[in-house]
Amino acid sequence: MTHNPIRPWRNIDRRKSRQIMVGNVPVGGDAPITVQTMTNTITSDVTATIEQVQRAAEAGADIVRVSTPDEASTAALKAIVRESPVPLVADIHFHYKRAIEAAEAGVACLRINPGNIGSADRVREVVKAAKDHGCSIRIGVNAGSLEKHLLDKYGEPCPDAMVESGLDHIKLLQDNDFHEFKISCKASDVFLAAAAYQQLAEATDAPIHLGITEAGGLMTGTVKSAVGLGNLLWAGIGDTIRVSLSADPVEEVKVGYEILKSLGLRTRGVQIISCPSCARQGFDVIKTVEALEKRLEHIKTPMSLSIIGCVVNGPGEALMTDLGFTGGGAGSGMVYLAGKQDHKLSNDRMIEHIVELVEARASEIEAAE
Ligand code: SF4
Repeated sequence: MTHNPIRPWRNIDRRKSRQIMVGNVPVGGDAPITVQTMTNTITSDVTATIEQVQRAAEAGADIVRVSTPDEASTAALKAIVRESPVPLVADIHFHYKRAIEAAEAGVACLRINPGNIGSADRVREVVKAAKDHGCSIRIGVNAGSLEKHLLDKYGEPCPDAMVESGLDHIKLLQDNDFHEFKISCKASDVFLAAAAYQQLAEATDAPIHLGITEAGGLMTGTVKSAVGLGNLLWAGIGDTIRVSLSADPVEEVKVGYEILKSLGLRTRGVQIISCPSCARQGFDVIKTVEALEKRLEHIKTPMSLSIIGCVVNGPGEALMTDLGFTGGGAGSGMVYLAGKQDHKLSNDRMIEHIVELVEARASEIEAAE
């Protein structure tokens, strides 16, 4: 639960789930909700894949998934795992041998649906490989690839069919005495995904991986994911999230973080509070915020910064942020530190000066910790 005794309307009661480990990252229980993404390079291109994994990790990804469709991909995994700063998940569909190879290569988790890989012997072999190499498993139910018997039974992808599929896969793992698993229940339709996840949350105590699949491009996918995931997270459902965008994986990580930050579930970097600007603005708010977002990307320490065009809202927002700047007249404005007016600043020096103030404040916070 995010507990806020002064502002109880901000509290979120998280669903109680078991905790598993994905490498050294805990997922579920009271662990922070993790942000994941997935590479879109050809996995056998080791250099390109490592570079993308590192960029995603630098942007804040806690866990990165790598597609492993063929033997060349699993052969590349060893080198990728060695260079990765975060635990890797191998994405497997159907080919149980790829799962075994990926486990042997040292990935932290296998994304595989045990019901789709054939005989009981194959499931046993994959589970044995996972146990031998300390891998967890993510069961990944997807509305677009439900088993035929469930489509025949329910007529179309629906929450009942998705949850039944998930519970069938869970049973196969449990029958093999394997319990280090998490589960997702994704759909591209927000209503279907949300209903399936709500039902799944009642049906199992496994950690839940949230996602709206094939959500769309950067803008449309961000909005759709924020609506779908936001509503579930607000209801306390979800232990790890992946925002699926037809965009650079780094964008997925940024959006994932912003969703969690907006609900107070994670903090990272500078949260800029800024006004939309209007004729009253004492400086160019839009250009300034664009520049500051870029200049402050390297700050990982959580803090808040208000950049407000004029005194209508500036002093009020500054009261609630670590640092603030409010536009004034005659080409200058006021800097606020911890809610209090501190010094005047001319507009032409503001970006440099605010970057310096943020960096100094970040060092102070880090030193205090
Ligand atoms: S804070 Fe001032 S500049 Fe910004 S939108 Fe409101 S009135 Fe306009």
